[in-house]
Amino acid sequence: MASIPLRNGTGSDTECLLIPNRLEQLNIQTPDTAPPHRCWAEIDLAAFERNLKRIQASLPAGVSYISVVKADAYGHGMPQMVRRVLQSGVDYLAVANVHEAADIRHMGMGCPILILSPILPHEDQFLIDYDATATISSLEEAQRLNQLAVKSGRAIQLHLKIDTGMGRLGVWHSQASALLQQIAQLPGLILKGIYTHFSSAENDPAFTELQRERFLAALPQCTAGLLIHADNSAGIQSLAIASPFNAVRIGLLQFGISACLNTADAQIPVEPVFSFHTRVGLVKSLPAGTDISYGRSYRLKRSSRIAVLTAGYADGVPVELGNKSQVLIAGQGCPILGRVTMDQTVVDVTDLPQVRAGDCAVLIGQDGDAEITTSQFSHAAVTIPWETLCSITKRVARVYISPREL
Ligand SMILES: *Cc1c(COP(=O)(O)O)cnc(C)c1O
Repeated sequence: MASIPLRNGTGSDTECLLIPNRLEQLNIQTPDTAPPHRCWAEIDLAAFERNLKRIQASLPAGVSYISVVKADAYGHGMPQMVRRVLQSGVDYLAVANVHEAADIRHMGMGCPILILSPILPHEDQFLIDYDATATISSLEEAQRLNQLAVKSGRAIQLHLKIDTGMGRLGVWHSQASALLQQIAQLPGLILKGIYTHFSSAENDPAFTELQRERFLAALPQCTAGLLIHADNSAGIQSLAIASPFNAVRIGLLQFGISACLNTADAQIPVEPVFSFHTRVGLVKSLPAGTDISYGRSYRLKRSSRIAVLTAGYADGVPVELGNKSQVLIAGQGCPILGRVTMDQTVVDVTDLPQVRAGDCAVLIGQDGDAEITTSQFSHAAVTIPWETLCSITKRVARVYISPREL
């Protein structure tokens, strides 16, 4: 982890500790103050902690917060995020698979972990080894896990998932009560929760309401002691009334990104945690009429100065951004010229004569008064913020920023 030199007016380190958001100090990115990487993501831990608190504060009393930290905590780094989540008093974690659950157990964390994806037959034993909670959608899965539990003398915990219209995992809602009765007969299984998943909470309130109604109708008479959950980020953001269930599963919103297309729905104020940075590797002048990059998809209209950035699609800069989007250098938008390549991206810096090799460029985040949000970046790349975060590759260093950790 790179430590970033930070100096305020007096140069005192103690005063630096009081700066609420170190990113403010980094708005002017120069080779002297930025970490020594070619391409990196800054993760603002203090902003993440504030988001967790705000989400917690928005939940009605008695509603549990299941923090979804799958896919390396949406590319932010699972161990660092999980530590903050648990320190913030969140009681439950959810991940995609047993391998992610094992990573959390290897950190020494004993909290309940719900696995959201199906357990493959060859992974069943991991549920016992890592004390994780399975999601099941069928009698077949229940019988298989029950057999293992009975054979090994260790009960397996599970949540039953109900398909109320997502058309993916879960038992179809009209068959849920029959499956619940069958599960109750299996001695090796302990039912800990029942849940469903919304397909369109961010933009279709009527269908979401139908899903809620189907879910309510499929629940057993007595749900005492069970976690009953439906809402994801978009669910709690778009919900005018308090969630009628006793838990929520929150992923994206924790990272300060609205799941809703209509920001008017974003009732819970959160702030960005993630920013994406690279540097200028080369600056040069080219004559008007020169074609830029593979496929010659851009031709310079004027004699230009171009900067070749040290990030490409192997870092997570989508090819789709070529000729469509900008990066920020010295607080100014610089258009991306031609096709993004594996390791480099060309931008126009004709109007920024001061730009030199080594200077910083912001792909996502703030730079001076300018900002490119993850949502804007994703929109330009014809994708969604979830995919953008998961597409930032291993080659990109994650730099953690926190006033308390200086
Ligand atoms: C990923 C996931 C979530 C979290 O979704 P966000 O939109 O990121 O809040 C919730 N529930 C399930 C089943 C998921 O797979």
